[in-house]
Amino acid sequence: MEFFYRCTECDRQFEIGPDLMVCPDCAKRQVADRPLRGVLEVGFTGTRTSNWPASGTYGELLPIEERFFPPVPVGNTPLWQPTNLREKLGLARLFLKDETANPTESLKDRASALVAACANKYGITDVVVASTGNAASSMAGIGAAAGLNVKIFVPKTAPRAKLIQSLQYGADVTLVDGPYDDAVTQSLEFTRSNKGLNRNTGYNPMTIEGKKTAALEIFAQLGRIPDVVYVPTGDGVILGGIYKGFEDIVALGLADHMPAVVAVQAEGSNAICRALKLDGFTEPVNGDTIADSISVGVPANGQSAVAKLRKHRGRCVEVSDVEILDAQIELSSVSGLFAEPAAAAALAGLRKELDRVPPESTIVLLITGSGLKDIDAAGRRVRVP
Ligand SMILES: [Zn+2]
Repeated sequence: MEFFYRCTECDRQFEIGPDLMVCPDCAKRQVADRPLRGVLEVGFTGTRTSNWPASGTYGELLPIEERFFPPVPVGNTPLWQPTNLREKLGLARLFLKDETANPTESLKDRASALVAACANKYGITDVVVASTGNAASSMAGIGAAAGLNVKIFVPKTAPRAKLIQSLQYGADVTLVDGPYDDAVTQSLEFTRSNKGLNRNTGYNPMTIEGKKTAALEIFAQLGRIPDVVYVPTGDGVILGGIYKGFEDIVALGLADHMPAVVAVQAEGSNAICRALKLDGFTEPVNGDTIADSISVGVPANGQSAVAKLRKHRGRCVEVSDVEILDAQIELSSVSGLFAEPAAAAALAGLRKELDRVPPESTIVLLITGSGLKDIDAAGRRVRVP
C-alpha cells in the first residue's frame, strides 16, 4: 500500500513528511478562535497483502513502517462483555473497548506511538505537545520508550495525576495559565522558534491516523461492523480517528457499511454538537466540564468531525456533569471498569438514548482513559470512611 496526505476540505494530495501539518491552501482561510482549516488525513492506494484481520496485525495499514515504532505495547486492548451492565440496561450485545489498558492508560497512546514512529523515521529527537493532560502524559511515556525529548504545555488546572505521570516519564513540562486553547497557542509558538515535531492533536495528521487503530480492533474483535459506537468527544480527533478506521475497512472491501457513530459531548463543552445543529462554528464555547479530557473551547478537528457526522449520518448527544459522574460510578460499580469522567461520558450518552437503541443492537462504548488519572473528580461520588 502507498500512503499520502489528503486535505479534508479541498481534497488536494501531498507527499507525507514531518514538516507538513495542514493544507497550505486551506490554512490561508484560518480565522482566530475557530477550528483548524485544512486538516490533513492519510489516504492510500493499492490493497493489503496480509490477511488482516485474521493475521491480528494491522501494521501494513499504517503509513509508517512497523520497524520505526517504539518498543512499547500500544493497542490490542480488550473488548469487555459486561454481563451485569448488559442485564441492567437490557442490552445483550453491549461491549466496552477498554483503552485504559494502554501503557499510559489512555487511547492517546495510539496517536503517540505513530507520532513517535514518524519522529524516529525522519531522525527527529524532539516532540512538542499541548494537552489537557492525557495526550501529554501519553507522549511523555511513549516518548520515553522511544528515547525522545518531550516538551509539554498543559493548563495548570490539569489533573495532578496526569502532571505527575508526565514528570515521571521525564518530560519537560510548562504549566499554562489559561485553558487548553492557550496551551495550543504556546506550543505552536515553541515549535516555530525551536526544532522538533509538533504532536498537537488534530494538527499533526498522524494523531487521527493513529487513533483509527481502535476502530480496526473493534472490527477485528467483533468480526463485524458494530451497529453503534459511542465516542467521548472534545476536539473531534478521536471521533475523526474512529471514522477513519471504519472508512478504511470499507475502502479495503472488508465491509460494505459504516456504523452509526455517536459523538458524546459535555453540555459545557459542546462546540461540535452546536456546530452540527447550527450549521457551523460561530464562537468558542467555554469548555466548562468536570470531564477535563473533553473540555475544549475551540475543537481543532471540528470542521472535519462535523463533515464526517453529516456524511455518515452520525449524531451528537450532550450530557451534563452530573450525568457523567453518575455514569462513572455505574460503570465502576456494575462492570468493574474504572474510567475517567470523559470516558464515562460514553455510557452517559448511551443512557440518554436508551429509548432509541434497539435492544438487540451491537453497541460499543469507547472507554478512553482510566479513572486513576483524575482521583479528585472520582472522589465526588464516593464517601471515604
Ligand atoms: Zn485544502
